[in-house]
Amino acid sequence: MGCCDTPGLKPVEQALQEMLNSVSNQQAVINVDTPQALGTILANDVTSPVNVPAFDNSAMDGYAFRAADLAEKTTLTLVGTAFAGTPFEGNIPQGGCIRIMTGAPVPSSLDTVEMQENVTANGDRISFNHGIKVGQHIRRLGEDIQLGQAVLNQGKRLTPRDIPLIASLGIATLAVYHPLSVAIFSTGDELKPVGTPLAHGQIYDSNRYSLHAVLQNFNVNIIDYGIIPDDLDALRKVFNQANNEADVVITSGGVSVGEADYTKTVLDELGEIGFWKLAIKPGKPFAFGKLSHSVFFGLPGNPVSALVTLVQLAIPTMRAMAGETPAVPARFQAISQTAFKKSPGRTDFQRGIYHVNAQGQIEVASTGAQGSGVFSSMSASNCFIILEQERGAVAAGETVTIEPYDHLLQ
Ligand code: AMP
Ligand code: MG
Repeated sequence: MGCCDTPGLKPVEQALQEMLNSVSNQQAVINVDTPQALGTILANDVTSPVNVPAFDNSAMDGYAFRAADLAEKTTLTLVGTAFAGTPFEGNIPQGGCIRIMTGAPVPSSLDTVEMQENVTANGDRISFNHGIKVGQHIRRLGEDIQLGQAVLNQGKRLTPRDIPLIASLGIATLAVYHPLSVAIFSTGDELKPVGTPLAHGQIYDSNRYSLHAVLQNFNVNIIDYGIIPDDLDALRKVFNQANNEADVVITSGGVSVGEADYTKTVLDELGEIGFWKLAIKPGKPFAFGKLSHSVFFGLPGNPVSALVTLVQLAIPTMRAMAGETPAVPARFQAISQTAFKKSPGRTDFQRGIYHVNAQGQIEVASTGAQGSGVFSSMSASNCFIILEQERGAVAAGETVTIEPYDHLLQ
């Protein structure tokens, strides 16, 4: 146990490590067309089947020539034009030059390009009045990417920055991992779907919409079982079905003390589930384990807790299951403009707004009331303010760690 561990509470990092240790990528490899590959994860390295550029070409609109021809004179004779897509195929005598457009192939007998702004053209007499460097303004074959070079590695999730790179290499299909299928449902007798009236004591189910919103940015196939009442038979039925149909089952609610009885009974029939109390705020109750065919994440019912534990714990574990190479979340130090009450023992994920001040320093402020059911402060925020487990109260002006939201929450 570390200095500030609270007996009975599992530190967040330890929980995540245990989860990562117990899962692996079991996804089948499939082929997808490059335009449809966004968000999928590469099952192989992508190696380039071509040189990029594929030929020496001009970086400028200008004139191509042999630098040696300018040793004794400053004027050359224009003999033709090379366009992008239409190379100049003719013979270029000594003392000759061609007009060349950006991207047009440089004939193999020429070695240098001068930009058009630096020459004086008089009919077919082209005068070169500026100093030149042999080989200037030519983009060389293979200078960006060489034939056979690995440009993207297995385990990479493909972003909008990767797709054009792959297209530029002429690659039409890619071997990727089949996306995870994820079953979701909310548990609770008090929950109603949006668009229906509420009786006294009922609330709208928001967690399933959190899950949809986050998972839609995560390239998984979602199977939504809706709202399940706190009823043993109903839970048994849906857990059995979800376990058979999905790679991952994510629920919210029903994992806190006193609430867990039904879920625990059912899950114990289906697999090995740990009901944890995490040293995290918000989000203390959390369940994780393996069912006979799937991996289970039981998020707490409180909406902010559900979202925090989803992105901090379930998503990193699902990334590993999906075949993605683990990435360390981008975290920065910022000056806190807000004081925080806190005692050592739990890691706090407060919601904040960061900005860069006139001095170029990152400052961050709390978005206000941080209760685990308060969604307005989550909606207004652009980062987590992470107050480490061992940390006590924070005064305004102290340095804190922030984690700007990535594409899943942005
Ligand atoms: P539980 O974890 O089931 O004890 O729920 C904790 C709190 O979260 C209770 O106030 C629930 O009403 C609320 N809650 C549970 N599930 C949801 C949900 N899907 N959407 C919104 N609030 C919920
Ligand atoms: Mg409940």
